[in-house]
Amino acid sequence: MTQYFSSDFKLGILGGGQLGKMLLYETRKYDIHTHVLDPSPEAPARLACNLFQQGDLMDYDTVLAFGRTVDLLTIEIEAVNILALEQLEKEGVSVYPSTATLKKIQSKAVQKEFYQQNNIPTAPFTVFQNKEELIAAVEKGQLTLPFVWKSATGGYDGKGVSVIRERESLQQIPDGVCVAEELVPFKNELAVIVARNAHGEVATYPVVEMEFHPDANQVEYVLCPARIPSAVSDKARAVARQVSETFSHVGLLAVELFQTREDEILVNEVAPRPHNSGHYSIEASFTNQFEQHLRAILGLPLGDTQSMVGGVMVNLVGEEGFSGPVHYENIADIMAMRGVTPHIYGKKMTRPFRKMGHVTIVSEDLEKARELAEQVKSRIRVISKEDA
Ligand code: ADP
Repeated sequence: MTQYFSSDFKLGILGGGQLGKMLLYETRKYDIHTHVLDPSPEAPARLACNLFQQGDLMDYDTVLAFGRTVDLLTIEIEAVNILALEQLEKEGVSVYPSTATLKKIQSKAVQKEFYQQNNIPTAPFTVFQNKEELIAAVEKGQLTLPFVWKSATGGYDGKGVSVIRERESLQQIPDGVCVAEELVPFKNELAVIVARNAHGEVATYPVVEMEFHPDANQVEYVLCPARIPSAVSDKARAVARQVSETFSHVGLLAVELFQTREDEILVNEVAPRPHNSGHYSIEASFTNQFEQHLRAILGLPLGDTQSMVGGVMVNLVGEEGFSGPVHYENIADIMAMRGVTPHIYGKKMTRPFRKMGHVTIVSEDLEKARELAEQVKSRIRVISKEDA
């Protein structure tokens, strides 16, 4: 086996945001040498890697040249140049997640078709090549309102997704390949993180429950474990495992799920990397998701996914009405609360709803952690002292 620890082995990471930064806590722990590529000279991950390179993740030549300097490549964002990664795979660089998986995931249309072809439960849907086709289907009565419109590419954090309830709203949607999906009246939004290494060893994390901000369509709280019956969580973990195995995925796969009113589990979408829904694991789990991702991509034994304590995560996003140099108001107050740990990503500028950090609250009693999370949320403010 390749020697990774205190050696010449080089791990490349495409993307240097907060996920990259948190992955680097673990490469530092193991003394694994890293190179990071990111377009921003102020990328949060720039300080903890061994070599930082500024460059465009979608540019073929940039990604190819970067990849040639490392032994194994991973990502912290899916929007990367896949042709360059395919070339690197041909040249013998290991790429995890594989380009085959990334290609399926980059388009929501291809991703949904993949689930359908592999008998993975997902909400019924139709793919349209453009807006005209979609409108024609509504006019002919082939597509009935309401439905969820999703742009095939380019969407994240709820952008590129909208619920269409009236015909008038059809005019506002942008042109392009899209998915029209049945609106699921779900009880809960859940997620399961699955780790799988190249030897086929698989481990699933406990099911988490995601509570969304009603306006911004961003996750506001993540609770682990989800407050659902064990039969439902067993089913959710089994479905998530099926998804990871069907992709023959290597690394972490975060599987976002809907729990329907009838307690069915439907796959919404996946992210082939560490994920916001697993941040709680840094404080609450035996093996946090970032260490687990490293273990999986390096073909090392997977760690225990169990929690040691209940965990709630609160996203810290920029408050509305503030843009400019960031100021974390009352951060010392929340640090005085038991079991509360803030994580500050290192983005110098705040703007409304920008993900600036998160706070984890751990407690033996999950309900207590959830109550504390609300206090944290109302106390800390991500603002700017300069006028917007
Ligand atoms: P993104 O890639 O932007 O995160 P998602 O596909 O996860 O987009 O959708 C964002 C949110 O929209 C989901 O978390 C969920 O709240 C809602 N949503 C998505 N699909 C459906 C659906 N079929 N039925 C009901 N709500 C949905």
